Amino acid sequence: MEPWDVTIIGGGILGTSFAYWLANRYDGRIAVIEKEPQVAVHTSRRNTGVIHRPFYLDPVGRRVFARSSQAAYGMWKAFAAQRGLPWLPVGTFEVATRPDQLSRLETYRTWGLANGMGDDELALLTAEDVRRLEPNVRCHGAIWSKTDTAVDYPAFTQALREEAERAGAKFLLGSDVESIDVAGDHLEIRLARGTTTDRVYVDPRGKIRVNVAFRDDPLPTRFLINAAGGHSIDIAHALGVGKEYTDLHFRGEYWEVGSEWHHLCGRNIYTVPRHPELPFLDPHWIVRADGRREIGPNAVPVPGPYTYHGLFDDPAEAVQKLFERPVGNKLAALVNPDFVTLATEEWASSISRRAMAKRVQEFLPALRVKYLTRPGTAGVRAQVVDRHGNFVKEAIEIPGPHSFHVVNYNSPGATGSPAYTAWIVNLLAKAGHLDHLKAKAAKPAGLWDFDAVCAAIETPSVLA
Ligand SMILES: Cc1cc2nc3c(=O)[nH]c(=O)nc-3n(C[C@H](O)[C@H](O)[C@H](O)COP(=O)(O)OP(=O)(O)OC[C@H]3O[C@@H](n4cnc5c(N)ncnc54)[C@H](O)[C@@H]3O)c2cc1C
Repeated sequence: MEPWDVTIIGGGILGTSFAYWLANRYDGRIAVIEKEPQVAVHTSRRNTGVIHRPFYLDPVGRRVFARSSQAAYGMWKAFAAQRGLPWLPVGTFEVATRPDQLSRLETYRTWGLANGMGDDELALLTAEDVRRLEPNVRCHGAIWSKTDTAVDYPAFTQALREEAERAGAKFLLGSDVESIDVAGDHLEIRLARGTTTDRVYVDPRGKIRVNVAFRDDPLPTRFLINAAGGHSIDIAHALGVGKEYTDLHFRGEYWEVGSEWHHLCGRNIYTVPRHPELPFLDPHWIVRADGRREIGPNAVPVPGPYTYHGLFDDPAEAVQKLFERPVGNKLAALVNPDFVTLATEEWASSISRRAMAKRVQEFLPALRVKYLTRPGTAGVRAQVVDRHGNFVKEAIEIPGPHSFHVVNYNSPGATGSPAYTAWIVNLLAKAGHLDHLKAKAAKPAGLWDFDAVCAAIETPSVLA
């Protein structure tokens, strides 16, 4: 089989954004390998659905995510308008539930401005201001990020897939990568038996069909980009890199609020994190792009990236994951007494709707348990842990043999993906990893300006 020039493992929002840029800039055989029959089946669907503005991201410590989010805001806004996709600028109040958190709100304002947000997009509010604008919310003060927006990330990913396909990328859906081997100047990707490049396809009427025939030949590729979300660390390990890291998984669960209680708040309400090192622990009040209201997510430790319900999806895999190498990283995190206390709290909010409601009542005392009518769609965060048991905050980029790996691509990863991937494609090109591809003579007319996006991420920070 003729080798692929670049294969991307993972048809989430990250892998699809990579495919978009590569196919727009280069002629060549570019493929996305995705085990599911559609794009955006996992974290890129199972998230809070917010375009996060970067006021809460340290412009130095979280530089790349802060700048990617800032650059991507205008990109998604233009894309949503062009494609007629949901775009609901609901705004977010991030509230201080304790007086000692007020100084953090001022820090957030400084960070937001340093990250490029406009003065008119951020406002510091007193407790009375908050009460006037959202009469049911109780707090000591808040920062109002006026341009935080509710969107539909699966719809964004699907539309981006169509753009990538139009530019020449192929999406090999229903193809589950089982192993990858280095074979001289290329890699050989083997798919799990029973999945092939053409086994699952969408017919002209939009129905998902399955071919009876399947092929066992490995897929040769000259270069691989690992964007496999919850499996990305395993794929990096399979190619012998990232071995100093492992991952822990946290399920974020949501509850839907009955429509008769939607009036409780019209904006997203987040709280200043109790544990700044673990900002994903505190549930929020969320306004979805279709107007639904939810509370969540919590962060329940679970054994694997696809444990969306209960304790295990696959008990054998759970045991294997627990003892995967390097074992020390997980043990260092798991034996930490703070971690055990927090995990117990999160499990309580998973088992008890009352416990979940109680956490939100801290800033929304009018909420009642009976308002939480049914569970929302849970998602799982794959959190990378270093040798000392620390949770790594930013995405980690790791070069490997004929490959490049992105692991720990967590929130606000959906927001930043079109900008972050432009930046990485530029880095790969500069390092010569894309020299085997031919630059397109005429770039397809697109909405987004590659060079301007890359420059926005490279520019030195005003705080650096
Ligand atoms: C609870 C929660 C809420 C969040 N809320 C927000 C938010 O509001 N805003 C925001 O910006 N970000 C949010 N995020 C983060 C954001 O959703 C992620 O950063 C982003 O979706 C990651 O995209 P991805 O493409 O890397 O991963 P995924 O969407 O998980 O895609 C990875 C893909 O790889 C495929 N794959 C894996 N292994 C294989 C294999 N062996 N063979 C073939 N295919 C494979 C999977 O099937 C999957 O489709 C949230 C995350 C969580 C967990």
